[in-house]
Amino acid sequence: MTVASLSATVGADIGPKINRERGQRQVFCGLAGIVWLHRKIQDAFFLVVGSRTCAHLLQSAAGVMIFAEPRFATAILQERDLAGLADCNQELDRVVGEVIQRRPTIKTLFLVGSCPSEVIKLDLHKAAERLSEHYRDQVRVIAYSASGLETTFTQGEDTCLHALLPELPVRPEGERSLLIVGTLPDVVEDQFKRLFGELGIGPVEFLPPRHLADAPAVGRNTLLLLAQPFLSETARALQKRGATLIPAPYPFGIEGSRAWFWAAAKTWGVSRERFEAVIAPAVERAAKGLSRQRDLLAGKRIWFLPDSQLEVPIARFLHRECGMELIEVATPFLDRQLIAEELALLPPQVSLTEGQDLEQQLVRLRAARPDLTVCGLGLANPLEAKGLRTKWSIELVFTPIHGFDQAADLAELFVRPLLRAERLRV
Ligand code: SF4
Repeated sequence: MTVASLSATVGADIGPKINRERGQRQVFCGLAGIVWLHRKIQDAFFLVVGSRTCAHLLQSAAGVMIFAEPRFATAILQERDLAGLADCNQELDRVVGEVIQRRPTIKTLFLVGSCPSEVIKLDLHKAAERLSEHYRDQVRVIAYSASGLETTFTQGEDTCLHALLPELPVRPEGERSLLIVGTLPDVVEDQFKRLFGELGIGPVEFLPPRHLADAPAVGRNTLLLLAQPFLSETARALQKRGATLIPAPYPFGIEGSRAWFWAAAKTWGVSRERFEAVIAPAVERAAKGLSRQRDLLAGKRIWFLPDSQLEVPIARFLHRECGMELIEVATPFLDRQLIAEELALLPPQVSLTEGQDLEQQLVRLRAARPDLTVCGLGLANPLEAKGLRTKWSIELVFTPIHGFDQAADLAELFVRPLLRAERLRV
């Protein structure tokens, strides 16, 4: 998409100055989120109502999982549909019927809107209501948009979780709970549950859950802790339902994980002594694992092009715990409320950009020639061809990177392309 280029420098309340850019963008659409959401929610099916382009994008993003009978598919709109000559609703009902017949274990079906379905104004919310009524007691049908006109990359998770909220039961008044919001791999969820348990914090629930049949309940005494920084709509809607957001950095690296767990523990009333005693073994393991990667990353110069909205917390981790030099950190959007704790941890002189004017960013990038550039899949090969080493930002959502025990693995993601570059030079 190209819009008139505009850039301005605005001040953040805390942390570095933010340069805002509006111009040509190069990011995935929200459909990519289906790849990690369908892995997490095991009783759901994602039916994209889109074009062959959407189907190709999903298949390339899902890569190796194609043979594992994934729980997603694309209902492809044909030229007749796009020209408004056919009744798409009838065809949609037929495809949904086939999916439900072939996959009887599915309890929730997501109808996922795309650019083509929006352009022809196919009302998927109405379709979801109609189909939910038809399959009552068997499958509930929920619609959300992941189109490239409305969402970028990780925003697809936000629109999906936001659409799920009306389905969450109400927690009785006075019942305290902690809700972790944002997709976490099961292995990380289990580690987090154990640590919260040892801290005496509970009940702890996760959104999205592994099974929507066990959807978490939300009430006025629910405390929210975000595991991902890109869930603005979901966080605000949960707060409107009475839940309280706990401000915290994100659980990446030792420092982020410590601050994230401490934010919850402090709010719950856990003493500092007990907290430090409980997390000590995890901190020790993580520090040991991280020391080797730190040696390899320290002093290396890194540049973030905007893509995943994870840029700020990951840059904070790489700078403060791995000693990397941040040349420019660009992110598609900065939600001031959700990222405030992270901004305060960035070095004040860092060049921080919100949004994208691709040509301008590439000019600056080529001039700076960092050791490593974090970017979307579409830019990686052209940059490699120019002799720049890259890291795909999509790996940050496909790899377990949260928490103490994954701190070394997170650093390792950035070590690998640097080592490969060195081997190629030898
Ligand atoms: S939703 Fe839009 S941007 Fe995404 S793959 Fe389909 S056509 Fe492309």
